[in-house]
Amino acid sequence: MGENIPRVVIVGGGFGGLGAAKALKNAAANVLLIDRTSHHLFQPLLYQVATSVLTPGQIGSPIRGIVGKQKNTTVILGEVTGVDKDKKYVLVSDADRVDVPIPYDFLILATGVTHSYFGHNEFEKFAPGLKNLADAVAIRNKILQAFEQAEAEEDPARHRDLLTFVLVGAGPTGVEMAGAIAVLVRNTLRSEFRRIHPESARIMLLDMAPRVLGPFSERLSGAAKTRLEKLGGEFRLGHGVYQIDADGVLVAGERILSKTVIWTAGVAPSPAGKWLDVSTDRAGRVRVQPDLSVPGHPEVFVVGDTASLDQDGKPLPGVAQVAMQQGRYTGRLIGRRISGQTAPAPFRYFDKGNMAVVGKGFAVLQSGKFQLSGFPAWLAWAGVHLQFLAQSSLRVSVFVQWVWTYLTGQRGSRLIVNHHGAELPETIIQQAPPQLATLGK
Ligand SMILES: Cc1cc2nc3c(=O)[nH]c(=O)nc-3n(C[C@H](O)[C@H](O)[C@H](O)COP(=O)(O)OP(=O)(O)OC[C@H]3O[C@@H](n4cnc5c(N)ncnc54)[C@H](O)[C@@H]3O)c2cc1C
Repeated sequence: MGENIPRVVIVGGGFGGLGAAKALKNAAANVLLIDRTSHHLFQPLLYQVATSVLTPGQIGSPIRGIVGKQKNTTVILGEVTGVDKDKKYVLVSDADRVDVPIPYDFLILATGVTHSYFGHNEFEKFAPGLKNLADAVAIRNKILQAFEQAEAEEDPARHRDLLTFVLVGAGPTGVEMAGAIAVLVRNTLRSEFRRIHPESARIMLLDMAPRVLGPFSERLSGAAKTRLEKLGGEFRLGHGVYQIDADGVLVAGERILSKTVIWTAGVAPSPAGKWLDVSTDRAGRVRVQPDLSVPGHPEVFVVGDTASLDQDGKPLPGVAQVAMQQGRYTGRLIGRRISGQTAPAPFRYFDKGNMAVVGKGFAVLQSGKFQLSGFPAWLAWAGVHLQFLAQSSLRVSVFVQWVWTYLTGQRGSRLIVNHHGAELPETIIQQAPPQLATLGK
């Protein structure tokens, strides 16, 4: 690529950033795709890693591998820490360099979201969220560890809080996690323990909203709740959680004792709005123009979860389809601008619908006025998710794993893997003799 060819810097190799990079495949541009992780992550299946169905490698693909054949695209592993939109460069830090300026002619920020504890960051220590592969493996460890601790515990009175799983947030992620834990205890673990009965585990869903699966119709929300109740799920809806600590949660004056609390409630956007010093919505997402650019800077675009755009009077949701379509649109727009073609019409989201899976062989699906629940919806859910995995090798591997798990109840990875050395749960360290306590430090 020559020196005079415009440089397009894309920050984020998620759904939005990757969509943009692919759309620029044939553009006369130098594309630089920067991500702080080496892989593109299929977040909708994170809960399956957290509940041992799939392995991390089945939902994450090296970004370098995905765009490897795209000659105009270079992938950089680095963390963007700021943007100078007047001098047109981004600041990137990597393993051995800090805040290196990288110039751009066009910039696409697709940096997604992180957890939000709604001002209660102290909850994070006790209620981890699910956003990346490290989170999913940590939650998998926590869930599996709870069964191991209960089996080792002679006092049956302590089994109850060890086998109570609380999910804060009854949106799609909370519902999908709850269903997957229910299937784990009933189909996979039930015959493997001697002192405890895994199927007696309590699975509780808590939410401030009065019903589960808020984005879905009342009928589908009701169907999902009934299904979870059949699987043993319990609900505390319409109340906020006031406290989360090492012993459990406090909701509507009720103390729920639990050693495994998982946060699936809220997200906050990346700092893109702060980097750009532009107007944001109440959540902190960058308010973009109808062509997804930033006001006053037609060369800077923000797409996906970290962007805010209204369509027909309503804000677009933070879902993968919005990010993919916005990424593709921006890539095409930049390609047209570089080749001197007219600008495309303003961005318009085409909503293909929502889906959520609730345990084995059951899902809810809503597309416009069309609504479906049960096994046919689950088949559609499985087909769509397979189709959107980043590489064909993953599609084959996930399909085979799903069929195997469906038929046998066996899971892809039920390992408790501690990537940080010999850390032991705090309760063990506190009660252990001195030599063991030293080990845990
Ligand atoms: C558990 C879970 C389940 C979900 N389920 C569904 C579902 O069923 N259906 C659905 O449609 N949507 C679902 N979503 C939402 C969907 O995944 C997001 O809407 C989508 O990923 C947004 O795409 P994005 O490109 O904006 O951000 P992301 O896909 O999050 O990508 C952001 C990328 O930016 C990188 N990045 C962030 N900050 C920096 C930085 N400073 N420097 C460099 N790189 C950076 C990150 O590493 C990441 O690769 C789910 C999300 C989660 C967390």
